[in-house]
Amino acid sequence: MIKEFELIEWIRQQIPAVDHLRIAIGDDCAVQKPLSGQDLLTTSDLLIEGVHFLRHWTSLYDLGRKAVAVNISDIAAMGGKPLSLFLSLGRPIELGDSDLKELISGILFEIRRHGAVLAGGDMSRSPAGLILSVTVQGCISAGQAICRRGAAAGDSLYVSGSLGDSALALSLLKAGRQPEPFLAQRFHLPTPRVGLGQLLVENRLATAMLDVSDGLLGDLAHILDASEVGAELELADIPLSPAFRQELEQDTTLIELALAGGEDYELLFTSPRGDLMDQLPSEPRVTLIGQIITEPGVRIRQADGALFHCRRKGFDHFV
Ligand code: ADP
Ligand code: MG
Repeated sequence: MIKEFELIEWIRQQIPAVDHLRIAIGDDCAVQKPLSGQDLLTTSDLLIEGVHFLRHWTSLYDLGRKAVAVNISDIAAMGGKPLSLFLSLGRPIELGDSDLKELISGILFEIRRHGAVLAGGDMSRSPAGLILSVTVQGCISAGQAICRRGAAAGDSLYVSGSLGDSALALSLLKAGRQPEPFLAQRFHLPTPRVGLGQLLVENRLATAMLDVSDGLLGDLAHILDASEVGAELELADIPLSPAFRQELEQDTTLIELALAGGEDYELLFTSPRGDLMDQLPSEPRVTLIGQIITEPGVRIRQADGALFHCRRKGFDHFV
């Protein structure tokens, strides 16, 4: 089995020098230069085998990529640019060297893809299951981070991409079925919407924003609570992929996966502008799904005008 320090050296050799780090992997701390005119963003995520993922559902390479992507999605959710990542790893005894290197290669690939760098971490043996803790730091023009508070009555509500694909893929996997490639990709390799987040900041288009990780309704509630407002949604306007629609035709209750499924990693944001779909690039698609109103709570309107009641609740780790 590879020694801890050999592994750190193997990682270190793959990491390019970058401007914002005076000292990278290999010392007691990473030393970063202060960012002039920028605020520093920091976010952390924990992934535990058996809780957040099952190892046999995916390759370790893709698992590594996803661990990074979901973290970077939080940087995107403020409108920031990812800079440095820190990786802490609990290695189960039975995970071989080549598997471990495959995991780390996926992690390094996804970090590079977003123009960031691995700046440090820690490692330990784990008695049961793989544990991954990823911390990402990023930057944003001082004072410009888009928070959950900030939505006002009259704002339009937008979401990027399509919703429910990942939750649908997960429910198929749990039922022992193999999701078709698009759905599988949405679950295994989510794309953090970093470019869109930055564009919204640069053009000062969004008043409140977050990334949808626990389901649209649950995450929307965070914006509404923080902003002390409510929302009205049009059910027919919730963006769905062709693959999702196909499954929905067989089972109409699946719509609840688009409303409260989880792991979409799309950006949900409010804007005083009602015409953003024409102002933003076509990829990722941005869809107007509703309006912010004064009255608290969420009303989901169906095509016939009746209100829709979603029974499924967003994801909560402790219930
Ligand atoms: P310490 O004893 O101070 O915790 P370590 O021996 O754990 O130091 O780590 C040595 C160097 O290797 C540090 O710069 C640390 O950030 C880096 N490092 C350790 N584990 C990882 C990892 N999984 N990914 C990236 N860097 C790591
Ligand atoms: Mg250590």
